[in-house]
Order: sequence, then structure tokens, then C-alpha cells
Amino acid sequence: MRTKMVAGNWKMNKTLQEGVALATELKKAVKNPKCEVVIGTPFIHLATVAELLKGSPIKVAAENCADKASGAYTGEVSAAMVASTGAEYCILGHSERRAYYHEDYDILREKVLLALENGLKPIFCIGEVKEEREAGRQNEVVRAQLEGSVFNLSQEEWKNITLAYEPVWAIGTGLTATPQQAQEMHAYIRSLIAEKYGKEAAENTTILYGGSCNAKNAAELFANPDVDGGLIGGASLKAPDFCTIIAAR
Ligand code: PEP
Repeated sequence: MRTKMVAGNWKMNKTLQEGVALATELKKAVKNPKCEVVIGTPFIHLATVAELLKGSPIKVAAENCADKASGAYTGEVSAAMVASTGAEYCILGHSERRAYYHEDYDILREKVLLALENGLKPIFCIGEVKEEREAGRQNEVVRAQLEGSVFNLSQEEWKNITLAYEPVWAIGTGLTATPQQAQEMHAYIRSLIAEKYGKEAAENTTILYGGSCNAKNAAELFANPDVDGGLIGGASLKAPDFCTIIAAR
């Protein structure tokens, strides 16, 4: 059985003190979740929050890592540095990184490889923009994103990949994909994994939905057979909302 998961993505929100307060609240509230629970925090929180969450089922993710192993790359944070904080996951390929920081297929391929080499589990985001959905090109876009950055991985490496389907038109917009749209795309993504890595690998791959998933709509989205959980942005910033979403999984 594949892992069910609810992962938060704090994005560029919360000072260190605010982040510690939120993680403390979550630690108290999340004792026996039925799924893997992950919080994705800015780099500055990672070491403190990972330490704070020791003994809790909640795992920590970075929201990014560098596409270089080490060296003269001022301001960058390597996968090895992320791993040294106690973080176990790394969100990669988020549409905001693709759009605002020009992360293309090649850069993301490097990041995924470095994350894996350093023992981090990538949560790799894919998804089409509004114009692509309107033109009916969503399948082709998602296929290209997978082929461009992760379908180079070995069968063994693939076991550590979690995917997040995040239609860009649904992120932070309040426009959630319908449960049917989510299910259709997740089933398609699973069929692509089956083509590439075989049916068993496809069945074992966790595919999250992300895009305005909240305390009200999570249960309906998670009820779909190919939706294994959610990557949650805005609604992960408030402990009660995030806890409701975890309970829905
Ligand atoms: C995200 O950024 O990954 C996301 C899904 O954001 P939101 O839930 O706010 O749409």
C-alpha cells in the first residue's frame, strides 16, 4: 500500500518565532495521524523545527535546494545542508520556483538527483497553467515535466519520489480542481509511471493534489482512489485548518 500524506508548504511566510509557535501547536495537536504528515518550511526554520519535532510523527521538508553540490554559489542552500538540519523531504519543482526563478527541466533534474544523493525524499510538483488547461494540453504538459526532470531516475531512486499534481490555476486562487479533474489527472500520471517503471511502482507512488485544498474541500478530494493526499499552501499556516485536513486523510 502506498503512503498517504498531507504536506504543508509555508512558502515565504512566518518569522522564526512564528514558525516555532506554529510547529509547537502542530506537535501538540498531531499525535496519531493516519497518514504521513510533513511541514515544508523556509530554510531558516528547518534545524529548529526538526529539533522541536523530535519524537513527533510530523516530518520536515525544505521548500527548495540548490542545483549545485557546494561551492561559490552565494545565497544558495545545498541538499547536503538541508539534510544536515534533520529535514527528511524536499519540495522541488513548485510552480512558483519554475515561474519566478526560471527553474527549468534541467535545473530541476539536478536538484532531484542531489536531493536523492543526500538522502532527502523529493516531493516533486507538476501541473499546467490556465492557458494550457484551456487548450486541453494538461496531459502533454505534465508528461513533459516528468520526462524532463524525473523519468531519468532508476527504479530504485523512484521509490523515494512523491509527486504533487498542482494545477497552477488553482494555487492560491481559491479555484480548486474538481474532484473529477483531480482524479482524471492523477490516474493519467499513474498510467505514465506504469509505462515507465511498471504497474507495481505506479501503484506504490504517492501522488498528492495541491491547489486551494482546504479544510472544507479536502475530504472530497481525498476520496478519489488516485489522490493520496494533499500539498497544502495557505491552509497549512493555521494549525486548526491543517489538522482538519490531516484528519480528512
Ligand atoms: C502550494 O503552493 O503548493 C499550494 C497548493 O498553495 P495553496 O494551497 O495556497 O493553493
